[in-house]
Formats: sequence, C-alpha cells, structure tokens
Amino acid sequence: MSQFKTLDDLGDISGKVALVRVDLNLPMRDGEVTDATRARAVAPTILELADAGAKVLLLTHFGRPEGQRNSTMSTSLIQRTIQDVLGREVMFISEVSGPVVEQSLAIMRPGDIGLLENTRFWPGEEANDADFARAIAAHGDFYVNDAFSAAHRAHASTEGLAHLLPAYAGRAMQAELEALDKALGHPQRPVAAVVGGAKVSTKMGVLEHLVGRVDHLIIGGGMANTFLAARGIAVGKSLCEHELTGDVAAIMEAADRSGCVVHLPYDVAVAREFAPNPPSLRVCNVHDVAADEMILDIGPQATEALADALKTCRTLVWNGPLGAFETPPFDTATVALARTAAALTREGSLVSVAGGGDTVAALNQAGVTGEFSYVSTAGGAFLEWMEGRELPGVAALRQAD
Ligand code: ADP
Ligand code: MG
Repeated sequence: MSQFKTLDDLGDISGKVALVRVDLNLPMRDGEVTDATRARAVAPTILELADAGAKVLLLTHFGRPEGQRNSTMSTSLIQRTIQDVLGREVMFISEVSGPVVEQSLAIMRPGDIGLLENTRFWPGEEANDADFARAIAAHGDFYVNDAFSAAHRAHASTEGLAHLLPAYAGRAMQAELEALDKALGHPQRPVAAVVGGAKVSTKMGVLEHLVGRVDHLIIGGGMANTFLAARGIAVGKSLCEHELTGDVAAIMEAADRSGCVVHLPYDVAVAREFAPNPPSLRVCNVHDVAADEMILDIGPQATEALADALKTCRTLVWNGPLGAFETPPFDTATVALARTAAALTREGSLVSVAGGGDTVAALNQAGVTGEFSYVSTAGGAFLEWMEGRELPGVAALRQAD
C-alpha cells in the first residue's frame, strides 16, 4: 500500500486556507436533520484544522440536485446542525468559487469555519471537470479529504482537487483506511468474512474477491438461500436468485482451489408468512424446507458452528445480516453471531470490521456497534472496497505528493 499523507504531515497552517471535503449528506425529514452521525464523524478533522489556525472551507454534496441550484438541497439547511456538532460558529457561503468565496475568506480570521454551497449544484462536480476543480482549488492552500463514503466517486471535490493541491487524508478517512487495511489489506490470519443480506447479485463481486483472500467465507441471508438452491436444495419461496447457479459454482471451485472454507447453514428458521413471530415459524434442516415456506434466518446449530469457527479466527470482516433481522425472531442468528464477535474483540483475539447500511442497523440492534474494532457507515464505498476495487478518491490521495 503506497502511503497517503495525514494531518500529521501538515506544517504550520496558521492563516492558510484548508479546502476540506466532508460528507454532510445528512438524512432529512420535513426540513429537519434526522441523524447527525456523519457530521460527528468529521468534527475532529475540522476542529483540529481550525485549532491549528487554518481558515477551514467545507465542501460537501447534499442530495442529488443534478448540476442545478435547488433551494431544497442547499447546504444552508445543514449549517445549524454542523454548528451544533462543532460547538463553533460556521459561516454559510453561497458559492464554491469566485468573488463570493474570496470576500468571505477576506473577512474570516484564522480558525474560522465556512460551509460552501452544495458542490453538486454545478455540473462540473460530477463530471470531474478540470476548470471547475481549478476554480475551487484557487481559493485553497491545501486539500483534506475526510469523506471515505464519497471516495468511490471520481468527482471534482473527491478526486480532482487532490491533483491540484497538496492533499491529505482527514482523521475519519485515515481511521477508515487503517481499519480496512487491518481487515483485508494486511490482516492477521485466519480471516473470516460474513456476506449476507438481500442484494445477492450485486454482492457476487464481493464473494469473487474474498474467496481467494479469506480462510472462512460465511454465507447468510438471501445469499445463503441462493447458494443452497444452486446446490440443488429446494428453498421454497425464499428470497433467492436462481439464475446465479453458474456464479455460485465458480465461487465454490475457487474456494476449493484456495483452501477457503465456505460455511452454508445446515439448519434454518422458516415460516409461511413474513410477519413478526408467525404461527408457522419452525426450525428445520435445510433439506426439509416445504414449497410454501421461506427461509428467513439461519438456524441455531449453524449459528453455533459459526461461533466456533470465529473463535479460531483473528480477523473478521462482515457485510450483510444473516437473516431478516428487522422482523423477530429472524434477528436471532445475526444478533448471536454479532455478540460472539463483540466478545472475541473485547478479549483481544479478534479484529472485527463491519459495514453496510443494514449491517450497521443490525449491529445497533444487537447493541455491539461500539464493541467492534471498526464499523463503517460508508455503504457503497465500503462494498466497492470489499470487491477489491481501488476507490478513486483514495487513489488520488496516495498519488498526491
Ligand atoms: P447491507 O445494507 O448491510 O449491505 P443488504 O441491503 O444487502 O445489507 O441486505 C439487508 C436486508 O436483507 C435486510 O433488510 C434483511 O431483512 C434482508 N434479509 C436478510 N436475510 C434475509 C432472508 N433470508 N430473507 C429475506 N430477507 C433477508
Ligand atoms: Mg442495505
């Protein structure tokens, strides 16, 4: 892994202008921010730069305005939230470049923070247009990227700027890259990967990448149903992608070649209706699923076997719940395995890294988010990383001199 620079590599930045890419694409309902997690994640970087005397200009996308100004997606709507999280005043600046930014910088003192308008109001952002990036870069002395969750996009503010200014990873980006490197870049062996959830075909690339790199591949969720079906097991009305039989066979062969153990459940929780605690709920062997039943979770014996496998591992990377965890009791296996992983992490025998929107929700439900070594909220970027793809925003930081 060629290295990237961090805030530790900055010299005296007093009075210098920092252009900082953050992800403040905060979820909103009825004009109110509903979750400030992403703001809290980037606060340490912003405060560190401000406290070192930089004038900090924040860049973020916010919604999908598709290259046009749109008052419902102005970053002015999130100004108050970021102020509250930082405990500092933040000046809203209604442009990303030009005289308005120039005038704002002229009145900002060292340590002041400005929030620029939504980068996606300009088509040059998503087109990664060189002139657009140059116009923004003209205001800054250096660039900091603290938005891992946007790093899978090669946009002007996530990628282009890194080539135009001295570029540094912010603290959240640094923590994410270090955690991901420990999980798959340079992991302690044996390594286990859990892949579950509902997005089966879009996660086949993840399995193809992992099968040659991990020692245990634990398959759950709709992915498990798809694997079972591909092996000729009747899965009834389960969530399943039958057309992936060939892909599954290729992954099983690759696993044999690389000595990777693929864990498929041998018992499952099934029901005829998808509802909380359904009367038709039962646990059975995978060979006994009736035509009118759905597999909604892996079973207790399978869960116990997975816990035993995890106890032999030093590293775990997890994406996708093992069952339909939103509907009880189909969260049973996910919660149990998450708690096993958390306990092993606490004991110091396991490095545990997890990511994915629903995976994070499931870990929250199990009450173990804080006990994993690292939990990524990056969604799409996390999955692309699990597929082994180089993220453009990260690549640009590594290449920067
Ligand atoms: P993530 O967001 O963590 O990447 P996904 O979006 O791929 O995960 O999948 C999460 C969804 O998968 C959850 O809504 C969960 O209910 C569903 N799911 C998991 N197992 C099953 C199953 N056996 N049958 C139906 N849905 C399932
Ligand atoms: Mg999801």
